[in-house]
Amino acid sequence: MDVAACRALDAADPLARFRDRFALPDGVIYLDGNSLGALPRATAARVASVVEAEWGRDLIGSWTAHHWIDLPRRVGDKIARLVGAAPGEVRVADSTSVNLFKLMAAALRLRPDRRVILSEPDNFPTDLYIAQGLVDLLGQGHELRLAGPDGLADAIDGDVALVSLTHVNYRSGRIHDMAEVTRRARAAGALTLWDLAHSAGAVPVDLDGCDADFAVGCGYKYLNGGPGAPSFLFAAARHHDTLTPPLSGWMGHAAPFAFDGNYRPADGLDRMLVGTPPVISLAALEVGVDLMLEADMAALRAKSMALGTLFADLVSARCGAHGFRLASPADPAGRGSQVCFAHAQGYAIVQALIRRGVIGDFRAPDILRFGFAPLYVGYADVWRAVEHLRAVMESGEWDHPEFHRRAAVT
Ligand SMILES: *Cc1c(COP(=O)(O)O)cnc(C)c1O
Repeated sequence: MDVAACRALDAADPLARFRDRFALPDGVIYLDGNSLGALPRATAARVASVVEAEWGRDLIGSWTAHHWIDLPRRVGDKIARLVGAAPGEVRVADSTSVNLFKLMAAALRLRPDRRVILSEPDNFPTDLYIAQGLVDLLGQGHELRLAGPDGLADAIDGDVALVSLTHVNYRSGRIHDMAEVTRRARAAGALTLWDLAHSAGAVPVDLDGCDADFAVGCGYKYLNGGPGAPSFLFAAARHHDTLTPPLSGWMGHAAPFAFDGNYRPADGLDRMLVGTPPVISLAALEVGVDLMLEADMAALRAKSMALGTLFADLVSARCGAHGFRLASPADPAGRGSQVCFAHAQGYAIVQALIRRGVIGDFRAPDILRFGFAPLYVGYADVWRAVEHLRAVMESGEWDHPEFHRRAAVT
């Protein structure tokens, strides 16, 4: 593979036309869409119109006139199409962390005779923290049990109320077999909660096809909703009328504008809403989701796997002497849209790359993480990124003192 072959792949790429729909700065190779997705060009105008024409001119009447109140459901129905859910099974609200809390608590109430939330040690920390906080809060002998991938199947026993896992691991990119884990959980009488932060918009997901019970996902990663974009939550329709929301806010009330002093949950999944929706953020997220819906998911996945394989092969062929160890599954079918390498100097190397305009990120203790968002990353970008990596290593550039200084956000 050489740069000409990469350019030929770009020329034949059915998704290449999406690159211009994003406002990426010149000279930047953005391999961090798994952490903060890029800005769609259409977002600025949409946000300006919500601010100036809707909020500014029509003021409070916009809740009805511009359908602001419908946004959690409307954007949720669009996301549902990306994750194999039916209309009505997804709402956009709150952050992923808060939605984890809401669904974990509601799930435990559906299994009152069981006490265990089962997860894995290398789940994303907020998923573990929220579970820890919840079991402490309940104070009824609940426990968070952790099992690694090899022990997971055996750990799903009759004590487990909820299996809570991240579908695509945030560090390694390893994909869980959602259908198989969900099947095992159901056979043991347990419920499942899938975190789709690194899945939605990156890999095909079929929540209903897998019989999943619950899911959450992130708006600001592959969905390109902008920093702090609201999250989404999914509950299978069979649970909607039996869920007890732990955060019984007025937006989840059966009649929010009746101003009744007593809480009554709304019908269906609306009961999992809590407070007033973040309208401007929802409008920005909708632009990102609409853009994603224009792309063919099979083409997206095929390109994502091809980009990842190209990157891994080029790093091994052209940076082989520099001690990088592949920390993602070698088989592209077994990983999400990212490829990670372990290296003792990972932090400084990532900083040196960022200085050159190749933006990846570092995950402690030693992981260099590169995400390949197929809507705006091309094959020649991957080639150039690896050439920068080679230059950083061969020149010793990474060892400059400024690249060793740790920033607050990595
Ligand atoms: C990014 C990410 C989150 C983010 O949670 P927030 O509440 O939005 O900060 C949660 N879970 C996983 C697996 C993530 O990768």
